[in-house]
Amino acid sequence: MTGPWNNYWCELAWLGGELAEEGVLLEVVGDRIAGVTPDLPAPPAGAQRLSGLTIPGLVNVHSHAFQRALRGRTHANGDSFWTWRERMYELAGTLDPDSYLALARATFAEMLLAGITLAGEFHYLHHDPAGKPYADPNAMGQALIQAAAEAGIRLTLVDTCYLAGGIGKPLEGAQLRFGDGDAERWCERVDGLSEGPLVRIAAALHSVRAVPPEQIPAVVAWAAHRGRPLHAHLSEQPAENQACQEAFGRSPAQLLADSGAVQSNLVAIHGTVRPRSGTWPMASGGPT
Ligand SMILES: [Zn+2]
Repeated sequence: MTGPWNNYWCELAWLGGELAEEGVLLEVVGDRIAGVTPDLPAPPAGAQRLSGLTIPGLVNVHSHAFQRALRGRTHANGDSFWTWRERMYELAGTLDPDSYLALARATFAEMLLAGITLAGEFHYLHHDPAGKPYADPNAMGQALIQAAAEAGIRLTLVDTCYLAGGIGKPLEGAQLRFGDGDAERWCERVDGLSEGPLVRIAAALHSVRAVPPEQIPAVVAWAAHRGRPLHAHLSEQPAENQACQEAFGRSPAQLLADSGAVQSNLVAIHGTVRPRSGTWPMASGGPT
């Protein structure tokens, strides 16, 4: 959008009903749609004509921009989610703020071309490959913010708390760069990120395998205090569900609920359940 005020007349626009409406005038003030008027047979003076079908911008609520480099390399040949994850870790170990900027910018640009106007970037690639903070401890997050700005997409940077390599396990290898040590230090680092007209900062718990229960409330409080969404990989893998049951005697969802994370601002990603009978389902590939 250019300028503080623009009018657009859509030949066809989908407004949420079963059918697209004809002749829809969209009045835009700043970065907001201020008016929607259907049934105008021709563009009013000064309105820009949009041919074909216009739909609202789509939202990608759960992006892992760096995993764009893995597209087409899922767990083929009988591999599992966990072997896919090893390849993802290898990739994660190669990125620095400059290459992350280039990769994320291209990924966000692709999203825009597909009609996505807002990316929720689930961001846990925080520190250098040894786990040491960069001179700016938010250098990787800033790379994502810059990438979104240069691509022209609205961004919710979902900064993700990631502290453990599994239930009761320390971070190791490529995971080292994900960790802040504890939730309090995660909060301190994330407080150094600034919002802008096209950028919001939100919070995430990576998963119950990556955030010990006693660390969850600080992240929950951070999001609640700022009125921001809280994301979590809720229940990603059958093996994770089983490990959570064995360690805590409850499901990941119950553990998150007992830790105060299940509020109206929770955005839960992945819902892997055990079937009523039979064995655990095969893992479906996907970001983690
Ligand atoms: Zn994910």
